[in-house]
Amino acid sequence: MTNRLYYTDPYLQAFDATVTAVDRVGDRTVVALDRTAFYPTSGGQPYDTGTLGALRVVDVFDRDDGSVAHVVEGVVPQPGQQVRGEIDWPRRFDHMQQHTGQHVLSAAFEHLFRVRTVSFHLGADVSTIDLARETTAAEIDAAEREANRVVWEDRPVTIRFASAEEAASLPLRKEPKREGTLRLIDVERFDLSACGGTHVARTGAIGIIAVAAWERFKGGERVEFLCGGRALDRFGSLRDAVAASVRLLSVLPQELPGSIERLQLEAKEQRRSSSALQLELAAYRADELAAAAAIIHQSAGLADEHPARLVVRAIDADAGMLKALAMAVVARDGYIAVLTSTTRPAVVVVARSSDVTVSSHQVLAKLIAQFGGRGGGKAELAQGGGLDAQPDTILAAAREALTSSTRQ
Ligand SMILES: [Zn+2]
Repeated sequence: MTNRLYYTDPYLQAFDATVTAVDRVGDRTVVALDRTAFYPTSGGQPYDTGTLGALRVVDVFDRDDGSVAHVVEGVVPQPGQQVRGEIDWPRRFDHMQQHTGQHVLSAAFEHLFRVRTVSFHLGADVSTIDLARETTAAEIDAAEREANRVVWEDRPVTIRFASAEEAASLPLRKEPKREGTLRLIDVERFDLSACGGTHVARTGAIGIIAVAAWERFKGGERVEFLCGGRALDRFGSLRDAVAASVRLLSVLPQELPGSIERLQLEAKEQRRSSSALQLELAAYRADELAAAAAIIHQSAGLADEHPARLVVRAIDADAGMLKALAMAVVARDGYIAVLTSTTRPAVVVVARSSDVTVSSHQVLAKLIAQFGGRGGGKAELAQGGGLDAQPDTILAAAREALTSSTRQ
């Protein structure tokens, strides 16, 4: 058994103790003391960190025999040795603010709406309580206000101990899980709960209780909240984000959502008009490309009977534009178009007019076999990407493929 000094004095930051045991648990060194102010992870509240003499305390947990295990780093002490323990106070005080805030917020939901808190988690960034049923935004707002009223009234938060029989007659917010002597945390005339955690001495030290978010969770409501220093930190980061946004948009903070919505609509409208313009432009460029086409003979077997006009060109455009251009070229009779992007790896589009017998996907398959990449399509139109060669090399290979046997 370790004498837990934080039970009666949660504000104790340094203490002297005797090492009672030193164990190896896996690759960790675990020290037990006759007395400690270090809080071990339990009841939703994380462990304290700090130092034991020259040792760093990196984790603290409860053992089944009732002792508190301190996981330490540094030169291992001997049993019987005297050590001075010092707690990382900013970390602990932050936990005390969040934990006491939780008692008050949970009690506010209980008082106002008879909604029980099922569980509590104190995280590294935010804390949550899980409520037994779903709640409305108005209920959450009312509970938050009620909780802060109790904070600002600066009520005493006291620790007392009671036997199971005594506790049975007391108005505890929650049925205690433990047997034997219970440690009760009493927020004056507001909340009485059995709890082994560390709490501030008066509600005023919580500073503020701010609900940050909520969501449906397992048939109830998960409420995320921040107390004291954490609420101030969050306010600071939100303030900076809002200030940067209002500077960019030249609007007041309350005008941000409407302003962003308007920008989104404008962007959508511009995308629409830009793609309409691209299509129009594709028709003009296709005229130029078609005018500069070379006449080829698609294959030896069809020599002179079905000459086609071939457009092979590398164009600085994306896949969508290449496809639009190729389709605009082959909208007229007698054309084959092979267009590549100017990038490497390249995008390739092959298309042909409906009266031409070349198979576009076979031409593309030949190019992919030669230069890698992937793609596919049909006889009229095929599209590929990831071809690893210079555009000129790909186009030369396409010309070659089209003058050998690529008939459908
Ligand atoms: Zn507590």
